[in-house]
Formats: sequence, structure tokens, C-alpha cells
Amino acid sequence: MLAVEDAHRLVLEQCQPLPPERTPTAPAALGRPLAEAVACDLDVPAFTKSLMDGYAIRAADGGPLTVIEEVTAGRVPTKTVGRGQATRIMTGAPLPEGADAVVPVESCRADGDRVEIAGPPPAPGDNVLPRGREMRKCEVILSPGALLTPQALGVLSTCGRAVVLTGRPPRVAVTATGDELVEPSAAPGPGQVRNSNAPMLLAQAAAAGGLARDLGIARDTAESLRAAVREGLRTADVLILSGGVSAGKLDLVPGILREEGVVAHFHKVRLKPGKPLFFGTAERDGGRRLVFGLPGNPVSSFVCFELFVRPAIRRLGGHAEVDLPAVSARLGAHFTYSSDRPTYHPAELMLAPEGWRARAIPWFGSADLRAFLAANALLVLPPGGGALPAGAAVQALRLEA
Ligand code: AMP
Ligand code: MG
Repeated sequence: MLAVEDAHRLVLEQCQPLPPERTPTAPAALGRPLAEAVACDLDVPAFTKSLMDGYAIRAADGGPLTVIEEVTAGRVPTKTVGRGQATRIMTGAPLPEGADAVVPVESCRADGDRVEIAGPPPAPGDNVLPRGREMRKCEVILSPGALLTPQALGVLSTCGRAVVLTGRPPRVAVTATGDELVEPSAAPGPGQVRNSNAPMLLAQAAAAGGLARDLGIARDTAESLRAAVREGLRTADVLILSGGVSAGKLDLVPGILREEGVVAHFHKVRLKPGKPLFFGTAERDGGRRLVFGLPGNPVSSFVCFELFVRPAIRRLGGHAEVDLPAVSARLGAHFTYSSDRPTYHPAELMLAPEGWRARAIPWFGSADLRAFLAANALLVLPPGGGALPAGAAVQALRLEA
């Protein structure tokens, strides 16, 4: 059976970043990767400015000073500060000619148009931000691939950019399959369960940077599945189906996908949970569609998404980092597990003085999504199972908050 690493490679081999698009910065571009280099069109600050409310003076001047004018932010000084003179200045206002320091108002004693420095003698440059200190005109401030965080969006605005070229988020369609499924708002009848996978997968897709769209519940019939698959292939870059990929009587998904022209790259991966995972591709309207058939058990769907679908969405969206960050940790307590396959176990990671410490969360298997409520990581456990003592070294993948 295919190893996780090989399945992961086969998925990424099918992923090319979508063509970048022009995007207004905030909040639309938040979380996207920048797809161009951005240089500043100005020196920043564009003028030498005061960092405090106070008096602009010549630092060498000791004695009482005469106040010659007042400048507030947005105004420009009209007078040169000479020996024995000061300009009353507010935070953000341009420093007048002649002055080389600002004394904060708290360190001064003022009386009419006279002011005396009460605190320690100022040094040149005190409380002054020189022109170009933060950025230089034409300096490249952000490079392609930079993640657009809130602070990056602020810096882009300072650089004069309200629109930037970013990676294009892939369209992700989600359909849950199963005759037993009812909407979350419904009271399940005998043998029915609420559809929890679609809301979860839609949220995972959005968190990964995709434009997620719910195609609704498909039933375990060829007609219903075919309609969902056609709609997904027509409208999305990534189609995610949950359920119907195992070996049960009504697990029709792989067959229908094949009939609809989806080429299978793998079906079954050596991992727990999530063994029956299906991955294929189809060409539609000049673009490649990625199709994931995730096992219906909620935890299998969750884990397979994080390991295989998330990297695909992020690669299509132009991100450099596509995988969950891996960390080395030590087990906080003794832990026993049994598995014949590499296993992804819910865990809570904490930063202890000696490094990451992991707590394996009690979990009874693929149907137990509740155990993941407290999880912020997946422990990666080797096949074979056994007893791991407290302090054992383990690998963990951090889940996104
Ligand atoms: P399947 O992979 O279709 O055989 O489903 C495996 C298990 O997951 C069954 O117990 C299903 O009822 C359950 N399941 C499948 N799809 C969903 C869903 N969308 N939400 C919650 N449970 C599901
Ligand atoms: Mg099913």
C-alpha cells in the first residue's frame, strides 16, 4: 500500500500555482502570498519628524529659550530655529530647520513664550525620526512569496500600494455523500446522522486559503453522485467528496469519478485514520481539477484533509509553505497505542522550558471527532504500536489555530 510520503508527493506533483491576480490589500489579501516584489516609492518617513510632543531645539543650547512658532502634525514649520530659540512641536510634525532634537514637554518648564529645559541635557537626534530611517525610496520591502499578514498590509499601504498581485485562492467544492446524512439543523430519524463533515471540511478549506463552496449532500446513488461530481468539476479547482470511498456495498464514489473522466492517482494509503483515501485529477475548461475522495469517518476526513488536501490548496494558492509545521516533542506522560499503520493521533502541544511537550489525547478512533476539540497537533506514530514512556521523543504536526 502507498506510503504517506509517496501519496503526498503524488498530490503535489499535480499542483501548479494558479495564475496570480490583482487584489485590493485589506482585508481581501489577508493570508495570501504576495506574487510580486514591492518597493517603496518614497523615503519613509518622507521628512525628518518629531516622535514626541515637546520643543524642537538645538541640542547644544542650554539656557532659557524663546518659542518662535508652533507646528502640529500635517503642518510645516516656517521658521529656522536659531541659537536660544525653540519651536513648540507635536508628534509627527516635521522638524524645523536648525533644530536637531526634541525635548519632551514633560521635561520642560514653559512660561509664556519662554521655555526652560528641566530634565537632563538633550543630545542631537533625541526624539527625532530622520527621513528614510524606516524605508528608502526604491528599496524592495516585500518579496514574492511573502505572506500577507496584517502588518504586511500596513507596510504595503505605506509603500503606496492599495492593490497588489497575489496568489489566487483555489475554488474548493465540498460534497458530503451518504443516504444516512441529514442537515445539522434536522433531528435525525432512525439510522440517520447529522452531516458534520461538510461544515468541517468547508472550514478547513477556507482556513487553508481556498474559496469554499458547499455542494450539499449527495445520496448513495449513481445519479446523485454524478450530479455532484459534474457540478464540482465544472465550478471548482478542487473537489472534495466525503464518504463512499471504502469497500462497502454503496461506496460508489471511485467508480462514478472514473466514469466522469477523473484519472485515479491512488486509492488507499498506508495510514490511520484514513486508509481508503482516493485522489484523482481531471482536465476541464483548460484547467486541471483535483479530486479528493475522503473516507466518511469524521476523523479520517479531518486528518486526510490536513495531510493531503491542505498542501494542495496552498500550493494552488501560491504559498511557499504548504505542510503543517513539524516539531520534535517529548511525551509528557506514558502512552500506549496499537496500530499496524503509521498513525496520526490527536495531541496537545505545550511549550515547556525544555522544549515542546506533547500530551496524547484519549481517543477511541475514526468516529471520535470530539477528541480533537482539545487537539492542537497530530502525533506522528510509527507502525507497530507499543508503549512509549514519559519523556519519549515524538514527532508532531502543528494544527493551525
Ligand atoms: P463511509 O466512508 O461513507 O463508509 O462512512 C463511514 C462512516 O462515516 C459512517 O459511519 C458514516 O455514517 C460516517 N459519515 C459519513 N459521512 C459523514 C458526514 N458527512 N458527517 C458525519 N458522519 C459521516
Ligand atoms: Mg457512506
